Amino acid sequence: MKRKIKGLVMKGQDFLVTTHIDPDGDAIGSAFAFAFALQSLGKKAAVYLSDQVPYRYNFLPAPRVTHTMPRDGFDAVFVLDCGSLFRIGKGHEEVASGKPLVNIDHHDTNDYFGTINYVDNTASSTGEILYRLLKYLKVRIDKNIADNIYTAVFTDTGSLRYENTSLNAYKTCEEMVKAGANPSQIATMVYENHPKGRFLLLGEVLRTLATYNGTVAMVHVTGDMFEKTGTTSEFVDGFVEFIKEIGGIEVAVLMREIRKDLYKISMRGKGKVDVAAVCSMFGGGGHRNAAGCRIEGALEEARERLLKALGTVQ
Ligand code: 5GP
Ligand code: MN
Repeated sequence: MKRKIKGLVMKGQDFLVTTHIDPDGDAIGSAFAFAFALQSLGKKAAVYLSDQVPYRYNFLPAPRVTHTMPRDGFDAVFVLDCGSLFRIGKGHEEVASGKPLVNIDHHDTNDYFGTINYVDNTASSTGEILYRLLKYLKVRIDKNIADNIYTAVFTDTGSLRYENTSLNAYKTCEEMVKAGANPSQIATMVYENHPKGRFLLLGEVLRTLATYNGTVAMVHVTGDMFEKTGTTSEFVDGFVEFIKEIGGIEVAVLMREIRKDLYKISMRGKGKVDVAAVCSMFGGGGHRNAAGCRIEGALEEARERLLKALGTVQ
């Protein structure tokens, strides 16, 4: 796979790099790092994002980012940290338009949508896979790349705490620190630089906390709560991890109202329950311990369906 990717990179001149909607640190960090890497090889590269860069990642060194899907003018598309093509968001139908499509990812539920698929579900993060690829491409890791890859690995491993925290995750971080990434500065920017509104929203959301059998914890967030606290969907990043901290809880669920009768589900596990399998039952996916999906229907109804699905796989 790496050899095929190298061939494509050497042959082409101009590349598009993209990632998934509701981008997290691995998505943004990997996409930015790869665009910088392509530029360091003398190529042109831009990043397409369907969504805005979440405020907590605004500190990252960024290449050119566009929110309008370019129709033409590039030789291949690299899709990073994205299990299925539709998750690119707006414009996913025409993203490749006959050009080579390279899928670089670590999701368990990746559906191999690329013409080239470099997928490794044993990797902690796409950032880790990318570091491997950049070494193969003989890219010099400068500070721009190091900050982005460090952030990718650090955030996707829950600050090097989750089960996916492997030796390779640490080694990747080590190399990034050697190349100039500053762990304390990055941790401060990602975790201690929130607007006050996030905590007003957290207050609203925690009031909805309910537990079931002592093993499932659920919260929800509505459009009204966002309005009341002057926040948007990116402000909930991390909330589902909070309720996972309750002792005895095996599955934590956050239900976010996208619009009336449509919910985005974020599910987290602690190892016992395969939450990707649960989310797959609703057409979603992800990893064993972190997954998501969408459910149509009223809040109560969506909650009942989730609890039932959790019951069947527990
Ligand atoms: P989050 O809950 O943070 O949005 O997502 C958790 C994990 O599940 C991430 O790795 C994300 O890419 C994946 N994920 C979230 N929603 C979906 C979905 O609707 N479909 C698929 N295939 N994966 C998802
Ligand atoms: Mn990831």
